Amino acid sequence: MKTRSRNLKALIEEKTSHRVLRIVSVAGEVAQEMDYSAYLVGGVVRDLFLGVENLDVDITVEGDGIAFAKKLAEHLSGRVKGITRFGTAIVTLRGGFKVDVATARQEYYERPAALPIVEASSIREDQFRRDFTINAMAIKLNPGEFGKLIDSFGGERDLKKGVVRALHDGSFIDDPTRIFRAVRFSERYQFKIDEWTKKLIKQATDLAMFDELTIERVRDELVLIFSEKNPVRAIKKMAELHELKFIHPRIKFNKQLRKLLGNLKEVLNWFRSSLPKEKPSQWLIYFSALLHKLTVKEARATCQRFHLSRKDEEKVIRSKEGISRKLRHLGKEKLSPSQIYCQLEKLSLESLLVVMARARASRIVSERVSLYLRELRQVKLKVTGDDLKELGLKPGPRFAKILKKALYAKLDGSLKTKRDELNYVKMNISKTPSKA
Ligand code: ATP
Repeated sequence: MKTRSRNLKALIEEKTSHRVLRIVSVAGEVAQEMDYSAYLVGGVVRDLFLGVENLDVDITVEGDGIAFAKKLAEHLSGRVKGITRFGTAIVTLRGGFKVDVATARQEYYERPAALPIVEASSIREDQFRRDFTINAMAIKLNPGEFGKLIDSFGGERDLKKGVVRALHDGSFIDDPTRIFRAVRFSERYQFKIDEWTKKLIKQATDLAMFDELTIERVRDELVLIFSEKNPVRAIKKMAELHELKFIHPRIKFNKQLRKLLGNLKEVLNWFRSSLPKEKPSQWLIYFSALLHKLTVKEARATCQRFHLSRKDEEKVIRSKEGISRKLRHLGKEKLSPSQIYCQLEKLSLESLLVVMARARASRIVSERVSLYLRELRQVKLKVTGDDLKELGLKPGPRFAKILKKALYAKLDGSLKTKRDELNYVKMNISKTPSKA
């Protein structure tokens, strides 16, 4: 294919911050000094065309990337970190700004989904190992040619058409994580996945193999997809392309799941406008929702397969284990605030939001979960463990029991002041048995 080349200097100067502009200009000068060629590559080039700010400065060098990174760090008073044997490094600058540096390389896959064998190469070959045409453009940074666009695969054309297109037939077999990346970019920019690429994805989903290493990269892609602005549409697209089976073969994109995901979107919107300071982990919420029909054992195995942290695994499990019973309980006609609290207190914020989405069909249950989220979980006692010690109580299980009882009484409105709480505690010291 003919490589298109035109100059984007004016666009870079217009759209890029002073800081990034200085970094890329210095990078070009350093490359020139070393007799190398340096290019701005990847997402930042794509987003330059789209007018979207992107602070991930990725530079690829035809030459020794590590030596280049060291020189660049000297010029920018930065430090080099994370050197790899693939010739990549990170230059960190003051204020935490990072520049990713890579050596232009070519990759061979000895077998599908294996890690590639890497060799130094030219920028064109480097671009050919990338995922989609829109991510496979480069801009030269050397002073004489600063701004020259290297677009060997029609990236600019596809950006204009709004299309996500793979670079070659074997792309998804070589690296199955691209199956998910296609959905992520198409949803983020509202682009279509072109028909040939869709066909390749479908073929690859029949053949794809995920070894241990790939599965962690797939997890990282899922985290990114579920953290995007509209994960529900992305999940629908994943279902159309038969991708959900890689999370678990029993996940079906049926009416029930669609409803749950729709509810989740509403619940998250409500939560963000009501309590904007709290930042629940959106990806974990959608991941949990996708697993809601699996058994606890299957969900746990799925979390472990994707190497979720213990903490995240517990959040997923808590959002499903015993939830039907809790929802039934929360639907009872008369419940005091402390009874509502008691049902929900062990759940994380993420689990609570999934539970609230599941509770959408019942107004009373939704309102009770909402009451818990907005008010009840914020209620704290004024009386402390130290107060109990002063009252002559030795720390132990009785401590916790008495404090919990006092909290429940406070939730139900019978304790207003600290004095009320102290009196309540005093009264209960004698009543509470010393064995928990
Ligand atoms: P984002 O804005 O989400 O960070 P990005 O394009 O910068 O998007 P990254 O995952 O940071 O995405 O990757 C940077 C670049 O590296 C991509 O633009 C692409 O060229 C290349 N790349 C990343 N992952 C792959 C992959 N699995 N296969 C091929 N190329 C990839």
